[in-house]
Amino acid sequence: MTRFDTIKQKIWHDIGIDLGTANTLLFVRGRGIVINEPSVVAYQKKTNQIVAIGESAKQMIGKTPSTVGVKRPLVDGVVSDYEVTEQMLKYFLDKVNEKHPVLIKRPRVIIGLPSGVTEVEKRAVEEAAKSAGAREIHLIEEPIAAAIGSNLPVRESNGSMLVDIGGGTTEVAVMSLGGIVLSKSLRIAGDELNEAIIQFLRDEYKLQIGEVTAERIKTTIGTVTEYNKPKKITVRGRNVINGLPHEIEISSVHIQPILRRQVKPIIDAVRTAVEESPPELIADVMERSIVLAGGGALLHGLPELIADETKMKVTVSRSALTAVVEGCGLMLDSIGELRDILITTEVPT
Ligand code: ADP
Ligand code: MG
Repeated sequence: MTRFDTIKQKIWHDIGIDLGTANTLLFVRGRGIVINEPSVVAYQKKTNQIVAIGESAKQMIGKTPSTVGVKRPLVDGVVSDYEVTEQMLKYFLDKVNEKHPVLIKRPRVIIGLPSGVTEVEKRAVEEAAKSAGAREIHLIEEPIAAAIGSNLPVRESNGSMLVDIGGGTTEVAVMSLGGIVLSKSLRIAGDELNEAIIQFLRDEYKLQIGEVTAERIKTTIGTVTEYNKPKKITVRGRNVINGLPHEIEISSVHIQPILRRQVKPIIDAVRTAVEESPPELIADVMERSIVLAGGGALLHGLPELIADETKMKVTVSRSALTAVVEGCGLMLDSIGELRDILITTEVPT
């Protein structure tokens, strides 16, 4: 092996992973984000054989024949299905490997996990990464990764506050000196907003829609404040009374109170975290701002509503959807120095 090969290996080997309930992202050191796909798996019900993973599996939601099931193995932020999580992770790692066969064999990986996960869930993720081929596995609490990915000075003595609103979980964390001083983990996030929209259309308009349509409504006309000019969208579904296809137009004005009710627990958690935090740290946060990350941070009006309810400044991370994986990616550069904030497992060869 030449000296150049050694250097090349050092630069390319390591991978940062955001194993999110809604989306999985992989960051290869020296390259950036190489995978950004839904955490969804489609399988044959009879044989459990996997038929699609990621983007192609998400396309199948609500459209599969009765013989094919679609699941999100990480729903609620827990590894609710260990084997499927492992296969999904292996599939994404293989996909990266295919592009760079020699360079990323047996990588060191940093994986972001919600801070509320149990020891059993941590083991499950480690096992999944191990059997997917990782050589050294480091786990990091997601809020810290998201804060680093959002350029917050988490390793300094200044307090930082980050709220990560994903698909299945919301994490509220106050951090200082590289550690979490206080955190709240809620199993209420973007999925619940979709559910509430489905329920609302069923109750009010007798229209049955699927998860994908609900998400589209949320991301196009959803709001928790008001738009200057109300937004409208046409949705198709099935009339729950006569079973026939049906089309209606709905307005942001009608969706707003539904979403507003749903985000209340999130806002309450932020407010409680502010109340319970040491005053010196909150003074630091007041000086800068509370930072929001995760796809839920992009909900129209949410930053303003949180600011209003907490009387604090609120900003959205420049990289809301990618902050966790970018934080993991940045940490790959200094795994050695970060031993204190990473949970490490080395896999014997
Ligand atoms: P996770 O970390 O759990 O995988 P993400 O941070 O990737 O989750 O965020 C996914 C969630 O964000 C989904 O519930 C999705 O519907 C929601 N989301 C994405 N974009 C928007 C948007 N523009 N407005 C509201 N919600 C959004
Ligand atoms: Mg996330």
